[in-house]
Amino acid sequence: MNGPAEYRQKAAALEAMVKRGSLRVIDDHNVALEEIVQSDTWPDDILITDLECTMCGEKFELFANTYHGSAQWSGAKGK
Ligand SMILES: [Zn+2]
Repeated sequence: MNGPAEYRQKAAALEAMVKRGSLRVIDDHNVALEEIVQSDTWPDDILITDLECTMCGEKFELFANTYHGSAQWSGAKGK
């Protein structure tokens, strides 16, 4: 991913899925998806959102280390 705008886009998509009930937030590490979506800048240096598929329990992670300018979306970690 290439920065805040793209990360916010991804966070918004995930937030919509959480609202529809297809994903569940396991741990947002104190920064809610909503907060990320609405922030004009990075809301924190490190952003981690752990999610789980409500259908099959598959786990996902949205992660950004804004200090080092890296952000990533990772699917399926250790089901
Ligand atoms: Zn699933």
